[in-house]
Amino acid sequence: MRILLVEDERKIANFIERGLKEEHYAVDVASNGEKAIFMNDVNPYDLIILDIILPGRDGLSVCKELRDKKIDTPILMLTARGNTGDKVSGLDSGADDYLTKPFSFEELLARIRALLRRNRINKTTIIKAADLEIDQLTHKVKRAGKEIALTSKEYALLEYFMLHVNQVVTRTMISEHVWNEDFDSFTNVIDVYVNHLRNKIDSDFKNKLIHTIRGTGYILKE
Ligand code: CA
Repeated sequence: MRILLVEDERKIANFIERGLKEEHYAVDVASNGEKAIFMNDVNPYDLIILDIILPGRDGLSVCKELRDKKIDTPILMLTARGNTGDKVSGLDSGADDYLTKPFSFEELLARIRALLRRNRINKTTIIKAADLEIDQLTHKVKRAGKEIALTSKEYALLEYFMLHVNQVVTRTMISEHVWNEDFDSFTNVIDVYVNHLRNKIDSDFKNKLIHTIRGTGYILKE
């Protein structure tokens, strides 16, 4: 899952970025509203965290412009403490939720998870496919009841497959949603990670879940 973080205060931005990366999210940071609009035009984000107070145009006008452009990416707005007006205007401008600064990182993560699963029928943090299951809260992965240890990137990749079970997932989709702007498209890093994942998820089992679609990408089939 790839997140655009729009925040000009570098200390706060660094803190959130680092924390989200530890939680396996791919993160890009925009330090002002114009950059945010541009980055959103060129990258497909799964969620946007948008601070209201930015230099130049504020978060409210950025949010409004994104919604006017029919961008329906979930937007979590960061508001200043005690400013009820901000919360109301934030929601009115098209934000899905807001969080008041200062906030605990745990709460930020919980809001993000809730927004990311808002269109899912299954609202729990556990996703299952065949005998494989992952928990988005604890990042625990189990196959046939046995726990499997994955690295953070392997987990992010598997989560993306699980959210698109029985659908073809192209290398472009993976590069755009599991990696951030630092992704180098001239490497075979995706195939390398998929192979790592297969070794851990599939190699001990007769029923293989991850399949290659030649020339296109992969599919996790139940
Ligand atoms: Ca700010």
